[in-house]
Amino acid sequence: MNCRKTQQWFAERLDGRLDETRQRLWEAHLADCAACRQEWADYTAAWETLGRAPAVAPSAGFVERTLRRLDDTPAPEPGRWSLVLRWAALAAVVTLTGWTGWVGYQRLQNERLARVYEAVRGEVLESEIVESLNYL
Ligand SMILES: [Zn+2]
Repeated sequence: MNCRKTQQWFAERLDGRLDETRQRLWEAHLADCAACRQEWADYTAAWETLGRAPAVAPSAGFVERTLRRLDDTPAPEPGRWSLVLRWAALAAVVTLTGWTGWVGYQRLQNERLARVYEAVRGEVLESEIVESLNYL
């Protein structure tokens, strides 16, 4: 028997659920081990204290009264700050969506311009080459 096993059996010993063999082993360890004796004393003292504590029982009709009050209580209205926060969140989402769309549109326009510029530049180069060939 070791201390860990002995202390694991505290609850069973308290309830009288240890069989004869385990009870003997448990008592033999407790007789030799001061630490477990102290632990057992604290354990039983704690349970005695709990046993002396007055049990708190709900008064008659407590559940019915509580349920009735829950049914009668109107759902809380959203507070003023809650509404402000909702509108601020909506405004933020709308702004972000608009900004993202505008940036995307600008990028698309720049790409189109770049393609047009490239094409025009290619044609100009081509015509310059043809023109210079005419001079030869
Ligand atoms: Zn021990």
